[in-house]
Amino acid sequence: MKLPRVLVVLGAAAFLAASPQTEPASFLIRGARVADGTGSPLAASDVRVVGDRIAEVGKLEPKDGERVVRGDGLVLAPGFIDVHNHSTDGLATDPLARTQVSQGITTLVLGPDGDSPWPIATYLAEREKAPAAVNVMTMVGHETVRSLVLGKDFRRKATPEEIAKMAALVAQGMREGALGLSSGLEYDVGSYASTDELVELSKAAARSGGFYMTHSRDEADKSFEAMAEAIEISDRGGLPLDISHIKLATVGVWGRAKDAVALVDRARAKGRDVTADCYPYEAWHSNIEVLVPNKQYFDAPSVERALADVGGPSRVTITACKAHPAYAGRNLEEIAKAEGLTPVALFALIVKDGGADVIGHSMKTEDVEIFYRQPWVMVASDGGIDAAHPRGAGTFPRVLGRFVRDRHLFSLEEAVRKMTSLPASRVKLADRGRIAPGMKADLVLFNPQTVIDRSTFEDPQRLSEGIELVVVNGEAVWSGGKPTGARPGRVLRGAGKP
Ligand SMILES: [Zn+2]
Repeated sequence: MKLPRVLVVLGAAAFLAASPQTEPASFLIRGARVADGTGSPLAASDVRVVGDRIAEVGKLEPKDGERVVRGDGLVLAPGFIDVHNHSTDGLATDPLARTQVSQGITTLVLGPDGDSPWPIATYLAEREKAPAAVNVMTMVGHETVRSLVLGKDFRRKATPEEIAKMAALVAQGMREGALGLSSGLEYDVGSYASTDELVELSKAAARSGGFYMTHSRDEADKSFEAMAEAIEISDRGGLPLDISHIKLATVGVWGRAKDAVALVDRARAKGRDVTADCYPYEAWHSNIEVLVPNKQYFDAPSVERALADVGGPSRVTITACKAHPAYAGRNLEEIAKAEGLTPVALFALIVKDGGADVIGHSMKTEDVEIFYRQPWVMVASDGGIDAAHPRGAGTFPRVLGRFVRDRHLFSLEEAVRKMTSLPASRVKLADRGRIAPGMKADLVLFNPQTVIDRSTFEDPQRLSEGIELVVVNGEAVWSGGKPTGARPGRVLRGAGKP
């Protein structure tokens, strides 16, 4: 189905559709202040888009019959690149990706936390056959290849032969277009892997120019050991590192963001290419088991300690529980009271009955702010289509509205850099992430006075406000508060592709 190439814009007159026979469609965005993605100061510039590229930037006059988008009072930025996105399944059911484009996201990196599509060639071919509104990239997942090799027998160290098989699968994933290796070492399958296993798989990714992205082994009391392990793996594997959703999520490490920053800064000072990403919330979203790092789910002292570590059972809210659907939306303290159980007994019951998804309100604002201020920390959602956490629909506008406008944590230009050129360089996208002639035309026009997230823990899909126009590969995908219906998104393959 060919979708009409119509750009409907805010209060402006409707545009003529581009005539298909002639030159590639061109339009001019006039009067906006440009945040070009590099962190340079906002500049009053006009931007001309021809076909799927930015053709000119500067003081420009419309050509005869050229469509003009008025950007007065608005900021024009490169499209936002989300390096940690869980829309692998969501793109098939919601290719317009409403919750994503309404935040200004134009490129999704899928397959984080060790869990990627497989086979990667098949998945990417499907996305090409049924394009989305956004561009799509993917990692190859450690858990994914580990499960392929070990099957259900994964609660152990792998043998050298098994590691060699996994490495061959990582190499295959890289050849098929993955950007690098992701891991989720706090989760069941990944957590049994040794550091050496991850080093070997990292080497396979490094040979194709990939990077290592990790949900590290511990985001609680052993956070520092886990970060040090991640740095060691990238060091020995010979590839850059991105620490996923950097955080300090237990009482024992609260207030120590400066120490974590020092750890990363030391590695960077030695020339290591280390970055991190961070979502702008004090609450995480995962499965209930991750609360108990020693996996002793039925050992009362272990669980008691774990609940105390996150600030108590009232800090843990169930978002979904198959066996007990009525628990959704309530916290462990409330449910335990209602059921006449101790929180520890309730925890054991839920795990025994198949587990649950939970939100843990266990990060400190000051730590999140310190991480966010670091020049090597980028904005990423850890969300995606249909996310049960508000970060899935609110991350990028939340940073622009609350962190920049309300709290002045850093400049608007720096925020845009953390959303565009910084992630672009992490995933080696040379032709996106900046506004400059020749770059692909992924663009976001937003109102810096009004941009804000509206999603909440009660209503996580509620759309953000203030993102006025989103363009992907030269076509508008979001305009006037709704999707245009266009699906110009492309599959962008990584460095390892032939
Ligand atoms: Zn994660």
